[in-house]
Amino acid sequence: MEDRCRAGRSKSEIKEEMRETKTDLLERVKQIIRGLKKQHPEAKCALNHTNPLELLIATILSAQCTDERVNIVTSTLFRKYRRCEDYLGVPQTELEKDINSVTFFRNKAKAIQGACQILVERHGGQVPQTLDDLVELPGVGRKTANVVMGTAFGIPTGIVVDTHVIRLSQRLGLTRNKLPEKIEPDLIKIIPKKEWIDFSHRLILHGRRVCKARRPACEICALEKFCPSSTLIECSQDLPVQ
Ligand code: SF4
Repeated sequence: MEDRCRAGRSKSEIKEEMRETKTDLLERVKQIIRGLKKQHPEAKCALNHTNPLELLIATILSAQCTDERVNIVTSTLFRKYRRCEDYLGVPQTELEKDINSVTFFRNKAKAIQGACQILVERHGGQVPQTLDDLVELPGVGRKTANVVMGTAFGIPTGIVVDTHVIRLSQRLGLTRNKLPEKIEPDLIKIIPKKEWIDFSHRLILHGRRVCKARRPACEICALEKFCPSSTLIECSQDLPVQ
């Protein structure tokens, strides 16, 4: 007799379901977006900030470091440094000391001062509102630029792909790729542009709270019915991922 899995469906029935057309995939994406909105109504960046410069600095500091650690550091940093000129008005060693509990603090202090120098020289001390200008700043890659454009200015220029978005987009069968630069175009093709900013925030929250790296909590997951990796499908390892 054929194995029966979730909801009494057989392995072959579930495999058939998951061999989806583009139309089916887009419909499933709609359900995933709906589920994310239901489970995480709040969609906000986890890095504390009150203006675009603070977000830029916090995002530079957050590379390979936890948001919690960055928030601890910036709670005092942002009281001392309010404008680009403040970061440029101290020796690099002083800035290093002020951020020395984050990873790679020497490189990050150098990047922050380099970025502030360019902001003062080319942008009147303001954070520019284009992706091209942002990625020219030291310490700013496409991911950081997308965070700043989306969160500080509300302009969707791409989808932020961090470690949670990598893991979840794979588990949800939204990509077969492993590299952020390949995953982002996969997501851009199937996520409506108006959802890009909040989709990243919510997927990151979902990765932190529900779909954790080691032990996904599928039993409380609002996306469970639309996820080919659900552990509630006993035979999930046999299922094809999109
Ligand atoms: S069903 Fe499980 S594996 Fe799929 S997204 Fe939810 S928690 Fe992650």
